[in-house]
Amino acid sequence: MAHSFDVIIIGGGILGTSISYFLSFLNKSKKIAVIEQAHNVAFHTSGRNTGKVHAPYLYNPEKKKLFAKSAFQGYEMWEVYAKLKKLPFKKDGVIEVALDEKGINVLEKYLKWGKQNGLEDKDIELLNKEELKKIEPEIKCESALCVYKDASTDYSILTNSIMKDSKENGTTFLLDTRVTKIKKEKDRWAITLNGDHEIYAKFLINAAGGEAVDIAHDIGVAKKVTDVHFRGEYWRVPSKYNNLTKSSVYSVPEFPDYPFLDPHWILRVDGSCEIGPNAVPVFSPYGYNKSENIKEFIPKMLEMLGSGARKAIFDKQFQELAMNEIQSSMSKTAMVDRVKKFLPKIDANKITEKGTAGIRSSIIDENGKFVPDVIQVEDDASFHILNYNSPGATGALPFSANIVNHLHKTGLFTNEEEDADCGPWKFSKIIEKLE
Ligand SMILES: Cc1cc2nc3c(=O)[nH]c(=O)nc-3n(C[C@H](O)[C@H](O)[C@H](O)COP(=O)(O)OP(=O)(O)OC[C@H]3O[C@@H](n4cnc5c(N)ncnc54)[C@H](O)[C@@H]3O)c2cc1C
Repeated sequence: MAHSFDVIIIGGGILGTSISYFLSFLNKSKKIAVIEQAHNVAFHTSGRNTGKVHAPYLYNPEKKKLFAKSAFQGYEMWEVYAKLKKLPFKKDGVIEVALDEKGINVLEKYLKWGKQNGLEDKDIELLNKEELKKIEPEIKCESALCVYKDASTDYSILTNSIMKDSKENGTTFLLDTRVTKIKKEKDRWAITLNGDHEIYAKFLINAAGGEAVDIAHDIGVAKKVTDVHFRGEYWRVPSKYNNLTKSSVYSVPEFPDYPFLDPHWILRVDGSCEIGPNAVPVFSPYGYNKSENIKEFIPKMLEMLGSGARKAIFDKQFQELAMNEIQSSMSKTAMVDRVKKFLPKIDANKITEKGTAGIRSSIIDENGKFVPDVIQVEDDASFHILNYNSPGATGALPFSANIVNHLHKTGLFTNEEEDADCGPWKFSKIIEKLE
């Protein structure tokens, strides 16, 4: 194995793998490595999510412009890529339902945002309850936003395929390999792997998902923010419910300033259905079980109490919402009841199998507020992506291309080719559509 690289990316989630993909097309002679502690790419959040390729109707085009544009373009890119490689992608739509008058106003806002973000009349429409009944008789609501340009996929399969392409261009993937220490030495980074040997990099990209903040802190970056982890749990429903609806169903979030959405009714790309996710506070980005949470409880609590997260923990509204989520973790009926509000036919007693939980790490600023947007920090020979949350998987390809373009434009890292073909896309065209 080579011991020196031009670029090292920490994190083989969908983001780190996609960044390596574009770098590998634009920098054929540079040595690029992705370091992933798990046995495979997309082992954590990228392979444990709802699997939706989201249309950008939930994002304010003024405040979340890059995210909205990335989701819009990401949909088209994943559709093309999945077709080319014969990977799962099903345009099965999503229905966002309002259960009261307040919710209807929110749907009207979403319709406007969706169109401002590029959706056409044929992609999205607002229906009243009678109109919806004709196409989805089992759904109970006051009004519904039907988003036809929304799809289901398996992001683990997509990420593995992107890794394969990146490897064919020369990228090294070091799997089962954990970055345990990072040290700056003059003009290079010394990176300790698995606590026992060092490799070196001229440039470092931190795409470490739930550990991105810890890695940034370790090298003195983004000191004012911290993160809180939330476990999103799912229940698989028996196959007799598989044809209950033709699309996935989401309900209007009641508290959009907090990372708590009500669980959805989910159609998976393989035709099965699930309920979820909730958002249960946990103490580790890998807090899938009790023992990991007990191990991390004291260090995480100390970190949170010494940061802006302290204010969030003592916020009454946050406490109430968190308790609600904990209850829906302890009681299957409490979780299913949240979906029964709009899909009354489901019976919690018939549901017995848990789905695969995934963890979201949300950033809190020094004032105790959840940061709604992704945070990108550049520093001396390093670039950090924090708070890369939903719909991060949808937008991963264009978002990564944008990072590579940004690094090149600001001179932090120079591409050899400005306008390479990157698989089915021309790099310049991806960037043009994001501007
Ligand atoms: C419950 C849930 C549902 C979601 N649903 C959707 C959806 O339907 N559609 C959508 O578009 N988005 C969805 N998202 C968001 C999406 O999954 C994320 O935005 C995306 O997966 C983040 O990718 P990532 O590569 O940044 O992080 P990750 O997938 O977490 O990858 C980071 C990787 O870094 C590795 N790593 C960390 N530290 C180290 C270290 N020290 N050494 C080596 N490796 C390290 C980790 O092992 C991990 O594999 C959902 C998220 C959650 C939690």
